[in-house]
Amino acid sequence: MTTETQKETLGFQTEVKQLLHLMIHSLYSNKEIFLRELVSNASDAADKLRFKALADGGLYESDPDLKIRIEFDAEAKTISVIDNGIGMNREDVIEHLGTIAKSGTSEFLSNLTGDQQKDSQLIGQFGVGFYSSFIVADRVEVFTRKAGDEVANGVHWESHGEGEFSIGTVDKANRGTTIVLHLKDEENEFCDSWRLRSLIRKYSDHISIPVEMIKENPPVEGEEADEEKIEWEPVNNATALWARSRSEVSDEEYNEFYKHVSHDFQDPLSWSHNRVEGKLEYTSLLYVPSKAPFDMWNRDGIRGLKLYVQRVFIMDEAEQFLPLYLRFIKGVVDSNDLSLNVSREILQKDPAIDSMRTALTKRSLDMLTKMSSKDQEKYQTFWNEFGQVLKEGPAEDFGNREKIAKLLRFASTQTDSSEQTESLDAYIGRMKDEQKAIYYVVAENHNTAKSSPHLEVFRKKGIEVLLLSDRVDEWLMSNLNEYDGKTFQDVAKGGLDLGEIENEEEKKKQEESAKEYSSLVERVKEALSGKVDEVRVTNRLVDSPACLVVGEQDMGMQMRRIMEAAGQQMPETKPSFELNPDHPLVVKLNDEPDVDRFNDLSLVLFDQANLAEGGQLDDPAAYVQRLNKLLLSLSQ
Ligand code: ADP
Repeated sequence: MTTETQKETLGFQTEVKQLLHLMIHSLYSNKEIFLRELVSNASDAADKLRFKALADGGLYESDPDLKIRIEFDAEAKTISVIDNGIGMNREDVIEHLGTIAKSGTSEFLSNLTGDQQKDSQLIGQFGVGFYSSFIVADRVEVFTRKAGDEVANGVHWESHGEGEFSIGTVDKANRGTTIVLHLKDEENEFCDSWRLRSLIRKYSDHISIPVEMIKENPPVEGEEADEEKIEWEPVNNATALWARSRSEVSDEEYNEFYKHVSHDFQDPLSWSHNRVEGKLEYTSLLYVPSKAPFDMWNRDGIRGLKLYVQRVFIMDEAEQFLPLYLRFIKGVVDSNDLSLNVSREILQKDPAIDSMRTALTKRSLDMLTKMSSKDQEKYQTFWNEFGQVLKEGPAEDFGNREKIAKLLRFASTQTDSSEQTESLDAYIGRMKDEQKAIYYVVAENHNTAKSSPHLEVFRKKGIEVLLLSDRVDEWLMSNLNEYDGKTFQDVAKGGLDLGEIENEEEKKKQEESAKEYSSLVERVKEALSGKVDEVRVTNRLVDSPACLVVGEQDMGMQMRRIMEAAGQQMPETKPSFELNPDHPLVVKLNDEPDVDRFNDLSLVLFDQANLAEGGQLDDPAAYVQRLNKLLLSLSQ
C-alpha cells in the first residue's frame, strides 16, 4: 500500500458515539454477531454492484466473480472481511461510517434505559451493522474503493471506536471493501479457522455469493509447506435461500436469513415461503417480525420488500408489493417476469405488480390467520406489537375486510382488562340469542371506556361490549359495518334500541317514564338551550343520572377530539342529553320548583356527563362554582 494522503481526523456524529458505547456494553454476551453483520454488509455491497453493472458492465473491472473472503492472522490478532462489491468513495465513507442516517435515531437513543438487557433488545430493533465490529475490536480499519474509480482513489478509514476516526486516500488495486478488525486481547478465540467457519455456517450460510476461507491443507510429510500456494474454498451454501425448496431449508436458516434482510436482531415470529408458477412466476419469502421497529410510526420509515429479478438484487424497500397496513412484513420477492431495469416508476404502473400485490397480501393475511389459530400466544405477541397497524386495514383494503376483521383483537367487558385479547368470533360465540348487533364503546383511554355510563344497561343485562381506546379505533369502526352478518353498534351513538333484548315489561315502563317526565324533558331542554340537540328519558343508564349521546351519523366524540387537537375546524354538532328516570337526582330535579336551582342542577348533570366521557368542559370554573353552590345548599 502506498503512502496515505489527504489524511484528516473527524469526529463521529453524537448519535454514533452513543450507539458505539451502548453496543459495546449491551451486546457483549452476543459478540459473535459482528461477523454476521459484516458479511451481511459485504453481500449487500455485492448485490448493489451486480445491479449497477447491469447498466455498466465496466464496473466489474474484469473481475465479475462476486465473493466475500474471510482471513485471519493469529499473530497479528486480526480478522479481515474482504469483498469485491460496490465499495465506497471518501464521501460515502464519511457519510456511512461516521453518521447514522436513519430518521428518528436520537429519539430512539433517548428511549434507552441504561438497563443492558432491555437496551440490547432495543438495539436489536434498531439494527446493529458495521459498528458491531467494536464489540470485539479495539481498532478497526477499512480499505475501500468504489467500483469504477481509479486505483489512486482508495480510502483508508480507521478508528478506535471512541470519539473520532481518521480518513485518508490510498491506492487500492481491487475494487470493494476490506475491513480489518484488530481484536481486543481477550477476543483471540476468533482467530481460529474452525470457529470462523462455524460462525459463517451458522449465520451466513444463506448468503447467495460464496463466503470463502483459505483451505487448510494438512502438511504433507517430507514436503515444505508451500507459502505461495493459497487455495480458497467456499464455506457457505452460496445459493439464494429463497430459491431453494422449503424442505431443504432449516428453521435456523430461515431465522438467519430474516436477520440479514431485515437488519433485525431477533428471530421472526413466522414466515411464509412460496413459489408461484403460471402466468406470473415469482418466489416470495415473507416474514412477520417479533418486535415493532423503532420507526414504525415514522411516515418515511423503512418498509417494503427486497426485490430481485431472476436472483439479481434490484432494490430495497420495494413498497409496491404490499399495502401500507402490512408495512411490518419483511422479506424478499424474486420475479422471473420483470425486466432487470425495472424502476420504482415502472413498478407503480405495471399491472402485473397489482396482481402480485393482491397475492402477497393474501399470503400475509393467511400467515397471520394460521398463526392466530395455531399459536395464540404467538399471535398475541404479534397483536401487541402490530395490532394498531393492522387496524388500518379495513379502511385501506376493502376486499379483505372480513379477513382482517377476523384477525382483530379487542379489550372487552368480558374481562375488563386492558389487554386486547378478544376476537370477534369469540364475541359472537358469547352473544345472547336475541342479540343482533356487536356492541362497542370508544373512549380516549381504557379506563374511560371501561367506566363509560353507556355500558350500564349492558352490564346489567350481561351483554358484552368491546372496549376501544386506541387512536385509530373510531376510524377502524367507521370502516367496519358488519362482520359475519352482524352489524356493529356504538353504544354511545343514536337512540338505543335494544330490540328483543328488552322484554315487553321494560318497553312499557320506558314509555310510561317518557310520558311521566315529558315536562321535565322540556324544562331541561330550556335550561341547556344551545348546548344540546335533544333531551330524552333513557333506558341505557343504571347508576348514572345522565349521559350524552351523539347522532347515529355524527362523528364520535373521540374522533372529534383528535381532529380538533390536530387543528381541524369541525362543524358544530350538538349531542343529545339523556336522563335516567330511576336516578334519585333526576327524581329530585323533577321536583325542583326553584328555577335557578333547577338550571344549576341541569347544567351540573350536563357537565358531569361530559366529564364521564373523558371530555373537557367549556367553562370548568363555572362548573365548580355551581357544584359548590349546590353542596352548600345541602348543608343548609
Ligand atoms: P446498515 O447496513 O444497516 O445500513 P451499517 O452501519 O452496517 O448499517 O452500514 C452503513 C452503510 O455503510 C451501509 O448502508 C452501506 O452503505 C455502507 N457499507 C457498510 N459496509 C459496506 C461494504 N462492505 N461495502 C460497501 N458499503 C458498505
